Amino acid sequence: MDEKILIVEDNPQNMRLIEMTLRSQRLSLLKATDGEQALKMAINEKPDLIIMDMRLPRMDGFEVTKKLRTMARFTNTPILGLTAYAMNGDEGRVIACGCDAYLSKPIDTRELPRVITQMLAEKRSRIRRHHDSEENPGH
Ligand code: MN
Repeated sequence: MDEKILIVEDNPQNMRLIEMTLRSQRLSLLKATDGEQALKMAINEKPDLIIMDMRLPRMDGFEVTKKLRTMARFTNTPILGLTAYAMNGDEGRVIACGCDAYLSKPIDTRELPRVITQMLAEKRSRIRRHHDSEENPGH
């Protein structure tokens, strides 16, 4: 089954660009354009990874990420924060609110799919390790 990616981005051009960079991969893409919609969609669809613009209407990406991290189901979901280039000091806040990594805008169309692939691979190996330790108790 294709892995599900939730893209949260309120800027239509950026949304289109993100979709384009991920199109060649076997991923199922879901889209949200504000923070409240993002939260609802994440809960309903349980994505494998979330790309989170930090500056969003209704509820910003910091708040959405913080809320998701309080839910058991989302403690291990990889979240990639997208920050505006000019926003100094955002990077520390992005990690502090619960994102695993961040990329600055403007979006680098080569870097983004590389980071996503890596984050998904890390998640898969984490799950494998978890299963292995359950199958071999005491080893
Ligand atoms: Mn934005």
